[in-house]
Amino acid sequence: MWFLGAGLAIAGLAACSDDAAPEPAPVGSGSRYDASRTGSPAKKTLWPPFVILGRRPDPGEITWSFDASDAPVAEDSAEAALTDAFRTWQGAGVVRFVRAPEGAAADVHVSWHGPKHPRCGFLEWDGGVAHTAGILGGSNAVIHFRTDVTWSEDDPQGKSLTIAALHEIGHLIGLGHSPREDALMFGGYDATHLLPTAWDLAALHTVYGGGDDHPDDLLIVGFSNDGEPTQRAPTLRRVAPFSTEAALVDIDGDGSDELMLWQNGRLGSMIGFRFMAGCRVEKNVGPYVGMTRPDRTTFVGRDAAGRAVVAHVRPDGRYAATGFDAKGNPRLPRKRAPLRLRALGLEDADGDGHLEHSVATRPPIGDGRVVWARADVDGDGHEDILAGPPATESDAAAEAFQWLLTRGTKGGRFGGTVFAARAVLVGDLDGDGHPEGVVLGPHG
Ligand SMILES: [Zn+2]
Ligand SMILES: [Zn+2]
Repeated sequence: MWFLGAGLAIAGLAACSDDAAPEPAPVGSGSRYDASRTGSPAKKTLWPPFVILGRRPDPGEITWSFDASDAPVAEDSAEAALTDAFRTWQGAGVVRFVRAPEGAAADVHVSWHGPKHPRCGFLEWDGGVAHTAGILGGSNAVIHFRTDVTWSEDDPQGKSLTIAALHEIGHLIGLGHSPREDALMFGGYDATHLLPTAWDLAALHTVYGGGDDHPDDLLIVGFSNDGEPTQRAPTLRRVAPFSTEAALVDIDGDGSDELMLWQNGRLGSMIGFRFMAGCRVEKNVGPYVGMTRPDRTTFVGRDAAGRAVVAHVRPDGRYAATGFDAKGNPRLPRKRAPLRLRALGLEDADGDGHLEHSVATRPPIGDGRVVWARADVDGDGHEDILAGPPATESDAAAEAFQWLLTRGTKGGRFGGTVFAARAVLVGDLDGDGHPEGVVLGPHG
C-alpha cells in the first residue's frame, strides 16, 4: 500500500513501507485496485512512465526554423511533416509552436545532417534517424534529421518524417525516453508511434501544467501560516501508481528536497524529481536501476547526521545501506556503522548491519490521530505537527489531515481546514525554508 503500511513521517521527510504488510486492501474508488481485490498477482508494469530531462523556459511560444538544404525529400513534404508534428504536440494545449520569420533566430533550428557530426552533443540515441540537441540551452536547440535514411510517409520500408519529428519534438520540450514501449518517447524509431500517448502527455503536463486528474497523480501544495494547503505547482501526473513508495530527502545537499519514488517487491528502479523556484519540476534524477529487489524492502530516509540514505532490508532485519554522492547519485557505499533512520523508526544501534528496530510506528497525538510530519508551518520557530490517520485506518478513500500548531509545547491548536488525502509527505521543495507538501489524492 501507498507508504501507509507501516510508514510514518517526521521532520521534513516521510515515507516508508513494510513488506510484512498484508495484501493491500482496496484504496479509493478507482478500478485499478480490482487486481488486489481478486488477489491476482500484480501485472508487470514498466515504471516510471516517463523521464523529464529539462524544461523550455517558455512553452507558450517556441519558435522554429527549418533549413531544407541537403534534404533527401521534397522541401514541401518535409515542411508538411514538420508542421503536422508540431501541431500534434500543440494540440495538447500546453505548448505552442510558431514558425520564425525567414532569417530570424529561432528557439529550435531544424536541419539535415549526414551520419557524422561529432560536435552535435545530442542527448538520446534515436535509432540513427534523427536527434535533438541543446534542449537545455534555451534558445539554441537543434533537431537533425539524417540524410542517409530512406524517408517516406507511405512506403513501409521507409521511415516517416512525421513520426521521427513527433519524437524529437518531445525531446525538444524536455522529455527523455520512456520505458513504456507504447509511448511516443520510447527510445528508437517505431512506425506505430503516431501520437503522444497518456504517458507522453503525463510528462508534458507534469512539467508545464494541465491535464486531467488521475488517482496516480501527486499534488504539490504549499501551506499558509495556519496550515491551509493550496496548490503550488503543476500536479505530477500518473507517477505514483498503487504500491509506489515515496520520500522527500535532500539527496544532493543543496538545501532543497528531492522527491524519491520507488516500488518495493520487485526488481526495479528508483527515480527522483528535482524542483526549482515555485516548486515546479525541474527534471528527473535517475532512474537508478536495480534499487529495489523482490527479497528486500527499500527505505529512503535520513541517518542521524541528516544525510539521505537508502536501506535495503531483508526480512530478517539484515540490511545494506547506500548514501548519495555529491551529485545526488545513490552510489556511496556506506561503511558499517550505527544507523538510525529517524523518521522511519528503523535502528541499527550497534552498527552490526542488523536492524534491532525494523518496524516503524507513528507517534500518537492523543485524539486517535498520529504524527505524519513535523515542520514549522506557521513560522514561529517551533515545529508543528501534521496530524493524520493511523496507518491501520488507511484503506478509506481519503483521510483527514490537519496541522497542529504547537509553539513547541505539548498540545496546541489546530489550524487551517481539515484536508482530505490518502497520504502526505512534507519537505522543502524549493529551499526557501518553508514546508511544502506532496499529496496523494483524493480526486473528483
Ligand atoms: Zn546532430
Ligand atoms: Zn529519443
